[in-house]
Amino acid sequence: MTKILFVAPAQSDGGLDRPALEALAAAKTLAESASAEFKVGVFGADVQTAAGIAAGAGAEVFTIQNPELAAPRYATDAAAMEALCKAAGADVVVAAADSRMSRIAAGVAQRLGGKADTQLTGLSFENGKVVAARWFYRQRMVGKIARQAAPWIVTVAPGCFEPYTGQASDAAGAAVDLTIGENLLRTKTLRVDAPSSEEQTIRPDAELLFVAGAGWTKKQADGASHVPEAGEIILEFLDKAKASLGSSKSLVDMGGEGQDVLPFLTHMHQVGQTGATPRHPKGLATCCHGEEPHVVGWRFINERRAVNLDAGCGWAQGKADVLYVADAFAVMRKVSELLAK
Ligand SMILES: Cc1cc2nc3c(=O)[nH]c(=O)nc-3n(C[C@H](O)[C@H](O)[C@H](O)COP(=O)(O)OP(=O)(O)OC[C@H]3O[C@@H](n4cnc5c(N)ncnc54)[C@H](O)[C@@H]3O)c2cc1C
Repeated sequence: MTKILFVAPAQSDGGLDRPALEALAAAKTLAESASAEFKVGVFGADVQTAAGIAAGAGAEVFTIQNPELAAPRYATDAAAMEALCKAAGADVVVAAADSRMSRIAAGVAQRLGGKADTQLTGLSFENGKVVAARWFYRQRMVGKIARQAAPWIVTVAPGCFEPYTGQASDAAGAAVDLTIGENLLRTKTLRVDAPSSEEQTIRPDAELLFVAGAGWTKKQADGASHVPEAGEIILEFLDKAKASLGSSKSLVDMGGEGQDVLPFLTHMHQVGQTGATPRHPKGLATCCHGEEPHVVGWRFINERRAVNLDAGCGWAQGKADVLYVADAFAVMRKVSELLAK
């Protein structure tokens, strides 16, 4: 019988974050449809809460608790995952495609003589086999993969599964031995520099993706550009709507070309063929022309709206559900005013 293992690090509060809860739900559903044994491995400095969540989901739980597993470090994370996979005797290992698990998945598969596939968007049990789905060629084609190799380690992309929300139990799980010697501790975390969640403008969990295009920096009806004002309008809306910020390539490229740009934009914000393909229920494009290389990054945005002065822009060519032919400066100022009420 197939043994399906979900592996995750416990977060600093001891629990599991949203991408991990999504991957846990994916693994649980897969185990149920495959009539497989469902197991969970958690590692971290304090694993009790995460172990309780996993036990509540009906899994046989394995834990490794050690203060050295608090911060991500390749050597210790990979050693912990390897030990958990061995203890569970897993054939299929599911993890969230977050930075911590993505970094170790392939290395652990190599150590165990298995294979790894990453950023999967679907898991199912078909004709007696576990089948994983993922998108190829910049999200244009979906492919299905099944493998003979075991363990098969799969990481699932955030935003593709509903997170697990069941009751936690107080079961502690079985402790797995892991010796963490000096050879695993050569990398040290000295401090963590991270923007506060208020300053963070890329918010994968947001309901709305707000895209800023190059039009925000272009000359407006009065013959002048208004970049500082554009920045204020955008940040005010993001703050009020708690939306995630995306950008067109033209706008983020301007910084590199020495032009006047919005200081909070980086290439991380770029959406499109050579940028990201974020997943949000809704999207609003402003001052962005809606050309195909940009709109291809909207593949997973369900409801699309755009504000553009040009009634013949790309969004009008069937790429948006609603196009407001209007001045985005005026529209977004008004929207923030209404949100403030
Ligand atoms: C190989 C390749 C890969 C590419 N990859 C990407 C990619 O990943 N992502 C991406 O975005 N692009 C990509 N591009 C570039 C893409 O083709 C476009 O050039 C780019 O998306 C245009 O950006 P934009 O719409 O912001 O700017 P523009 O084309 O300059 O459009 C600005 C828009 O703002 C509007 N506007 C101006 N003022 C206002 C106002 N006050 N109110 C409302 N509207 C206003 C204008 O009407 C105009 O439509 C790629 C191109 C190539 C060749």
